[in-house]
Amino acid sequence: MGFKVNPEVMSVSELVIQTKGLYKTYRNRAAVDNLNLEIVKGDIYGFLGPNGAGKTTTIRMLLGLIKPTKGSIHLFGKDLTKEKMNILRRTGSLVEYPSYYGHLTAVENLETLRRIIGGPKSRIAEVLDIVGLTKEAKRPVKGYSLGMKQRLGIAAALLGNPELLILDEPTNGLDPSGIQEIRELIKNMPKQHGITVLVSSHLLSEVEQMAGRVGIIREGQMVFQDTIQNLVSQSSSGFRLSVSEPELAMGLAFDMGCDGKLQGQMLELEPMQDAKVAMLVKRLVENQHAVYRVEEKRKSLEDIFMEIVGKGSVQ
Ligand code: ATP
Repeated sequence: MGFKVNPEVMSVSELVIQTKGLYKTYRNRAAVDNLNLEIVKGDIYGFLGPNGAGKTTTIRMLLGLIKPTKGSIHLFGKDLTKEKMNILRRTGSLVEYPSYYGHLTAVENLETLRRIIGGPKSRIAEVLDIVGLTKEAKRPVKGYSLGMKQRLGIAAALLGNPELLILDEPTNGLDPSGIQEIRELIKNMPKQHGITVLVSSHLLSEVEQMAGRVGIIREGQMVFQDTIQNLVSQSSSGFRLSVSEPELAMGLAFDMGCDGKLQGQMLELEPMQDAKVAMLVKRLVENQHAVYRVEEKRKSLEDIFMEIVGKGSVQ
């Protein structure tokens, strides 16, 4: 099937993250293979791929934690190798499980961090409010649920007032209500706080309700990068027509060059352009057929995702 990595035409200034030809090899094996990430300001970018696809390796490179084997990374239009400290000051992150002092409260944990990164004390209450931990802020963190710990991790990432938030599988291991809480929290970031977000996940369903654009990687390579809407629009698996005289209608559809078959009283047609569907309906009506229903058959987003990251060819 024809999934494509959309060639983007965007000016560098609109891109908060841009990588070009990014590679990371471990023992001659590419964990990240020629990756061109493009994340637009104000977006929530869903970075997707199955386990081992290379998401964490990419994120670690974006945060300057490991060095790329090859390729360039620009954050806020600046070269990471040249302006690392300046860039990282503007970036908050949550990578793998955050670590805390269990015997300290959320406020105390955030205070230890604030002493390192600076900023006003009042920011602690602000970030606890954003993540909905104000009420629990004076309890020792060791009694927190996993969901609360993840929210505290996001609070810590927000402490330095970042313009960009990078979250590596923030919902990993959470129950459905915990997942929902984190999702709601992330959703608000661009609109309420002006923060661009990159969030990784191995499940499309987890990011589909919040992400604008998604990048899907498989074996270190980008196999799809575009909006969720465009992913959905590529999901048509054909049309179903209910008409008064199916056999005659099928003949007419074949004459117009449509592919398909009769399934009981229904015409099952292969995917085609909207204009061709309109033409077919027009011809049917002109030939005195009654057209009762035209339905588009769509695959679920998860089916599409599995098709992209599965074993089949993608281009
Ligand atoms: P997961 O969701 O399981 O974390 P991922 O998409 O984040 O998966 P990565 O952790 O980036 O994937 O791993 C990508 C590939 O690189 C894997 O095959 C992994 O085994 C390999 N890899 C990652 N780090 C190292 C390392 N330090 N040494 C050797 N191989 C590594």
